[in-house]
Parts: sequence; structure tokens; C-alpha cells
Amino acid sequence: MARVGDFPAPVKGPDFAFFEPEYVLEQLQTGFAGLSAEDAAKRLIRHGRNSIEIFVPSSLFRKLSGNFFHAMAVLLWLTGLVALAAKMPELAIAIWLVNIVNGSFSFWQENCAQKALEALNKLLPVNVQVVRSSLPVNISASDLVPGDIVLLNEGDRVSADMRILSCQSLEIDQSILTGESRPVRKQAATLERQQANGVLNADFHNLVFAGTMVLTGHAQAVVFATGTNTEFGKIANLAQTIVDQPSPLQKEMERLSRTVSAISIAVGAAMFMAAKLLAHTETQAAFMFALGMIVAFVPEGMVPTVTLSLALAVQRMVKRNALVKRLSSVEALGSCSIICTDKTGTITENKMTVTRAFAGGAEFQLTGLGYSFEGTLIPGQDSGANSEIFELLKAGVWCNNARIELPPSNYVSGDPTEVALLVAAGKAGQPVKCMAPRLHENIFDSRRKSMSTVHDDSGSKVAYIKGSAAHIIANCRRQLIGKVELELTEEQRAVLIRRVDSYAEDGLRVIAAARNRISENSKDFSAPSVETDACFIGLFAMYDPPRRGVAEAVAKCKRAGIQVVMITGDYEITARAIARKVGIIESDSPTIFTGAQLDRISDDEFIESLREEVVFARVNPDHKLRIVQAFQRCGRIVAVTGDGVNDAPALKSADIGVAMGQNGADVAKESADMILLDDNFASIVSAIEEGRCVYDNIRKFAVYVFNSNMAEAVPFVVMLFSCGLIPLPLTVMQVLCIDLGTDMLPALGLGVDPAEPGIMHRVPRNLNEPLLTRALLAKALLWYGAIEAIAGMSGYFFLNWLHGWPTIPLAQPPSVIWKMATSMTLSCIVCAQVGAVFCCRTDRASIFSVNLLENRLVVAGVFVEILLLLLLLFFPFANQIFGTAPLGFTELLYAACWIPIVVALDEIRKLYLRKSRGFRQAER
Ligand code: ATP
Repeated sequence: MARVGDFPAPVKGPDFAFFEPEYVLEQLQTGFAGLSAEDAAKRLIRHGRNSIEIFVPSSLFRKLSGNFFHAMAVLLWLTGLVALAAKMPELAIAIWLVNIVNGSFSFWQENCAQKALEALNKLLPVNVQVVRSSLPVNISASDLVPGDIVLLNEGDRVSADMRILSCQSLEIDQSILTGESRPVRKQAATLERQQANGVLNADFHNLVFAGTMVLTGHAQAVVFATGTNTEFGKIANLAQTIVDQPSPLQKEMERLSRTVSAISIAVGAAMFMAAKLLAHTETQAAFMFALGMIVAFVPEGMVPTVTLSLALAVQRMVKRNALVKRLSSVEALGSCSIICTDKTGTITENKMTVTRAFAGGAEFQLTGLGYSFEGTLIPGQDSGANSEIFELLKAGVWCNNARIELPPSNYVSGDPTEVALLVAAGKAGQPVKCMAPRLHENIFDSRRKSMSTVHDDSGSKVAYIKGSAAHIIANCRRQLIGKVELELTEEQRAVLIRRVDSYAEDGLRVIAAARNRISENSKDFSAPSVETDACFIGLFAMYDPPRRGVAEAVAKCKRAGIQVVMITGDYEITARAIARKVGIIESDSPTIFTGAQLDRISDDEFIESLREEVVFARVNPDHKLRIVQAFQRCGRIVAVTGDGVNDAPALKSADIGVAMGQNGADVAKESADMILLDDNFASIVSAIEEGRCVYDNIRKFAVYVFNSNMAEAVPFVVMLFSCGLIPLPLTVMQVLCIDLGTDMLPALGLGVDPAEPGIMHRVPRNLNEPLLTRALLAKALLWYGAIEAIAGMSGYFFLNWLHGWPTIPLAQPPSVIWKMATSMTLSCIVCAQVGAVFCCRTDRASIFSVNLLENRLVVAGVFVEILLLLLLLFFPFANQIFGTAPLGFTELLYAACWIPIVVALDEIRKLYLRKSRGFRQAER
């Protein structure tokens, strides 16, 4: 062993690989008992947090240029310049004002969206299990300090550079450092200096580095470097980061914006020609007119509103315990048509309690629930002087990696299945710790469905095995009766299987235990050697209650046309019983597939046999990937849950990979698109609801933005096609007013609207369906747009009628009556818009079924809209600039009538839609 004197300089970084664990601990001034809380706090001050700060140059300039100088904005700046050169300063100012208001809004929205996403990063849980003052505790990875003793388990992300002190079957994924995806085996043995020649630091077999992942096994290691001092300090993603890539919807909106902008320019040019040729307008006026059209039609606010809507949806989802890592997943969630869910921990609570045990042919009951030792072991009538039960409880404690501390500490750590076995032993008054030295462990593997440990039991070697009952019973040749091991006959095997089935029918999870005496000379402790030809000891039956709210969530999915499929490693009868309890299965003939059956059939046969009610039991993670891909081949949008390392491929392959936030491995969380902060199935359904809602909102917003365009264009078209007989009913400046005052806030409000009633009564949206369908465009332009246009034009004629038309001709510009008439058109359009914004809040449901004041942005938008209109009408300065004139009470009342008229007309349309067959079908 190296001595301090051998190396006068303090040991640093990867050099710890060359020293024995005791010396490493000495150098780091720590021990196997870990640091004390005070020492750790002092070290934290000295070494700083275990995080890597990334310097991001200010993106202010990029954001400003993105919002004020994108192609359309530049076009508007230039348009203003042209207007200025053409001696139309008011128009130039108005156009620039539109540009400034739009840019500021986009900038603000982008900032809000970014802030929302940044806040989410902080929520991603990165915890580490360390030993402090001899006790294991969970701390945040950022609080790790050099000298901390860390307990690494399968699926953990390594949060600092560490020297391994002891480990079992440890394999690490170091691809993040080396690019090599093959797992690297690690061990605690000290490295010789000559062994290190030409070897990458990452490949030192007794070191693990920040950023890598534990694929299998577990280890105890001591931290020697944290934060920026880690060997690979450049690797920034110690914590997972939320990926902020444009989603398909954002891209679609960008495309749409560009197309509409191009169309507006074309329309503007056509209008210019028409004004010149049809209405014989002066060039300057025709030009002004074309510019106005372009500015009015360009949907500037679209893209930032979509981004903000998505970001706010992500924020709302977090409040409902679903943390979405990618904006694009929000949309995928909205069209999810199938959820493949684990059983243990997602449908059930993963709070196991052994309620029954079976040993030596007799049954026992255990009272009490949860992890407290309150409860007793009650022997059944047939149990007699049964000693096998104590061997069963012993097997459960020895072949176990969980830990439970007696009061006052009450510390519990480890797999709930294993904790339940310790609690069972505690209730029976048996030791809850194994004192016999453990010689070897074959770690639990979800493919093998068992684990085993080899012990030195007072001089003789014995292996204890526990695992899925079917697997253990199949591998046992003997059974324990009294103190002797007798042959296990086929009939007795069948009796045991019937016993397992009877427990499983009650929805209990059954774990079997066995033992194997190992000859003195044997050195082969591998699983195939110790787990076969074993001696059966008994069964544990565990109760794991279904989570509250899951049955309701499953029912909600069914109403929403979303299929729920259970995929579990557990026994098929247990799986079926739980699936029935929560409503996944309702029919008498559900399809139950086992992993073994899946192995025997081809993909095509498999797809053929997929039914509405399917449960997959006794499967392993490879099957999960196959199941997900089979459903995807059927054109389904699949959400799949996962918690372990081996679930990563299925999580990545699915449209929405959902990892468990509390009990999920870091690897699973990194592969997933969404993390359930409460591990609860019901939270997936809430996220789907939000996903549907956001898509609806973006549609509402788009409909609203487009319908005002129609109302703005019609007065010009009327003027053109009457060849100037009808004087212009709405001036360009007034069009800009509508664009500035009415499009902005209410549209933004629609983008963040709460879900309308019945949103989970519809079938999932087809992912390939474009955002703006023909039906939607028709609704925007030919329904709301047409009503608003009629409102505007009728107001125009109404005012003229009040002043003598048709006896005298329509008022001509620049008379006051004409100004009043155009102001009337403007007022009626704005009022119709107010009605429309409320109508747009629901697609088919009556607007009176939602709280009209609930969306404060919409209410504020309407308020601002009306205020602006009054300013335009009654503020002399505004009258001068925008060519408006004050209106009287009758005129204002007429305009205001359009608010209820739009609402009433739309309520009739919605009523008709609700009564129509299509909606009732979807509702069912
Ligand atoms: P799900 O896939 O729904 O999460 P699961 O926990 O039953 O369910 P696995 O973790 O793959 O799935 O476990 C498969 C089987 O292995 C279990 O049904 C149980 O019989 C057995 N098992 C689970 N945990 C252990 C363990 N720690 N030791 C031994 N056997 C176990």
C-alpha cells in the first residue's frame, strides 16, 4: 500500500486510481462512515457547488434582431420609408408603430417562454445517495463535496469524479466522455502505474466520472473532484437540460406566416392595380391603400404566440406533475392515442406490504400496512410448529439490498419489494439485517426475474435466492419441510403454482424464496450455478394498492379515445387482477400476452392480434420496445412509461417517453420526453389534456387573427367593385388601428385559454392534420370574417341612412359625415371582434359553459380594445391622425349591439354542431 511519505505532493484527480482505498480516504480526510453534516457544509463553502456554470453571452442582441429585423419586419420598415418618401408621414408613423408594437410583443413573449423553460430546469430532480455520519441520506447532486461517500445504484447518473471503494457487477456507460457506447466494467482494485500507460483516464477501472451512467450493479465510491474540478468539467449537462428545439407546430406556424405574408404582398399589389384601373384612384391613394392591405394582412404575432402558448402549457403541466422536456412533446401528447404503462409504481403505489406468506405447506397472515413494524405474523390453522417460515423470512432478509433503520431514525432505502421483506421479518420479531458475510451477489435482473446472494453462514456456504414465483418454482428440485430438504415432485410443484395463482387472483405480487447449499470447494457463484436445482422455501404475497385517481384517469382515457395497455414484468394473473381493478380490463375476454408468447410469434401475427383490451405480463424491457414499435406500425401515437435502465430504448422509440421522477433511474429520465414528478399514471392523462388544450388554443388564436383580416379587406373590395360609387368605408389608417388595438392582446389571451369542456370527450387528433384545415379557414373567413364584414358595412350604411341616405347620396370624403361613417365601420368591426373573441374561446361548447371572466388576458384585451376605440372616436388628436369623428349615442348603441349579435349567431352554430351526429359520436 502506498504511504503518504511516498508521494509528498497531495494526490489529485485520476491519480487516486493508483492508491488503496484506505489511503485515498486518508488523503481526502474522510472515512467509510462519510463526512459529518458540519464538515460537508464547510467543504461546500471551500469547494463551491457541484455544478458547472456555463457562460452564455448575452443573447439580447440576437433576440432584438430576431423580433424587430426579421424578413417581414424589415419589409414593414421599408414600407414606412416609402410612405415617408411619398409624403405620407402619418402612414409611415402608423406602419412603424405597428412594427414596434409587434416586435415588442414578440420580444416579451419570447422572454416569458424562455423564463418558463429555464424555471423548469431547476425542477429536474438530481439527487445522490451519500453516507453522512454513518447513515445513508439523499442530497442534491449540487451539494456533493470531495470526501463524500456515495452509494451508486443501477440507473444512476454519476455526479462527480469518484474512486470506487467497493462494487458489485458494476458497468458504466461512458459514451458521454469517450463516445464508446459499450458498457465498461469497473472494479475497486487498485491500478498499477504501469497498467495506466496509454490508457485513457476514463478507462481507469477503479474511477467513475461525472456525467457517466451506472448501467448495472452498485458501488460505494468516494468523491475526489466536484463541479469544474472534475476531470471532464467541460461536460455541462451534469443536470439534464430541457431541449428547446422548434416543435413541428412552431415550424408549421413559421411556414404559415411566410405563406400568408407572401399572399398579402400579392393581394396588396393586386389591390394597387385594381384601385388604379377599376376605381381610377390617384396613384398616391392607391399606393397607400395597397400598403395598408399588406400591413393588415401580415400575421406578425403568430410565431411568438405559439411559442408562448407551448411554454405556458409546459408550465401548467408541471403544476399537474408532468415535466415536459421538449416543446414538441406537448403537441405529440395532444394526439396521443395509446398509453403503454407499467404496473408497479405507476398504476400501483409501489408501497409493498407482505400480507400473506406460505412455507412448509402452511399459510401465515401478516397484519399492518406500510413500512412500520406495527403488525404481527399470525399462523394459520394448519401451520403447527412451523419452522420453515423463519427460514423464509431469513431468506428475504439475507437476499436483500434494502435498508431499514429502527426508530428513532426510521430511515428506509431500497427497492420497495425488498423493504417489504425486511418489514415482514421485523413484524415477526426476526432480525432485519444480515450479519453473515456476503461472499457474492447475482444482482436482480428483470430478464431473469430473480436475484441471489452467497453467504458464509458460520463456516458453510449458502446461497439464498428470491424472484418471480414461476421462475423460482421451475428451478427448484427440492423443498424445505421442517429442517430437511425433500424432493419437489411434479404434483407438489402444481400445488405450489395453484397457491401462487390464488394469491395473484387477489391482485397480490408473489415472490418466491429458495436456498442452495454450496460445496466448500466451489468457486462458481454465478446465477446459473446457484439459482438452479435449488430448494424451495416458500412464498411471500405482497399487497401493492392501486394509486388513487388511476381508475378515474383510465376511464377518462377511454372516453377520450385513448387506449390504455399495461406492460408489466409481474405474473399474468396479478397483472390481470390489477388491470381489472383500475378499469383497464372490462370485458370477459381480454388479451393477455406473456413475454414467452411474444417470443413465439412474428411481428405481423402480433400486430394482427392486438385488441382493444391488452395486458402484457412477465415481459422484459426488450419486449416493451417491440410492443411500442408494433403499435407505432399500426399508426398509433404511443406514450410509454419506464423507470429502469433497460427501458431507455422503448422510451426513446416511443412518441412520448415517460419516465418516473421519484423512482426512475437517471438514465430513464434522460431518455424520456416527459418526467412524472409523482410517478402517477393520472398525471400522464392530465398532460394529454393540456396537450390537447394548447393545440386548440393555437387554432382559436389563428381563427381570431384571420377573421379580422376579412373584415378589414371587404370595405376596400366594396369600394373597388362599385368602381368608386361607394366611397371608401374604412381608411388604411383605421385598418392599422384594428391591427394595433384589437389583434394583439385578445389573440394572446386566446393562446393561453383554459381547456374547453368536453376536450377529453373527443377522439385524439390526427398528428398529420395541418393546423389550419379548410374547415377552420372557412370558419375564420366565411363565418366570423363575414359577420364582422357585414357588421362594419351595415354600420357604414346605417350612419349614412341616419343622415339622409338613400334620399341623398352617400357622404363623400373628406366631409364630416363620411368621417363619421368610416368611424362607424371601425366601431362595428371592433364590437364584432369583441363578440368573436369570446366565441373563439370554445369550439363547440356554449361559451356560457365556461367562465367568461376566467381568462384575464382576454378580458384585459377586450377592455383595451374598447378604450382604444373610444380614444380614436373622442380624442381630437386621434381624430386628426386617423380621420375619425365622434359618434352619437344611437350610433354607439348600434355598434355595441354587434357584440350580442355575434355571440347569438355563433351560439346557434355551435348548438347545431353539438346536435349533429359527428359530435355525438366523438363524445361517446
Ligand atoms: P413493472 O414492470 O410493472 O414495473 P415489476 O416490478 O413486476 O412490474 P420487474 O421489476 O421486471 O417488473 O420484476 C419482474 C418480477 O421479478 C416481479 O414480478 C417479481 O416477481 C420479481 N422481482 C421484482 N423485484 C425483485 C427483487 N428485488 N428481487 C427478486 N425478485 C424481484
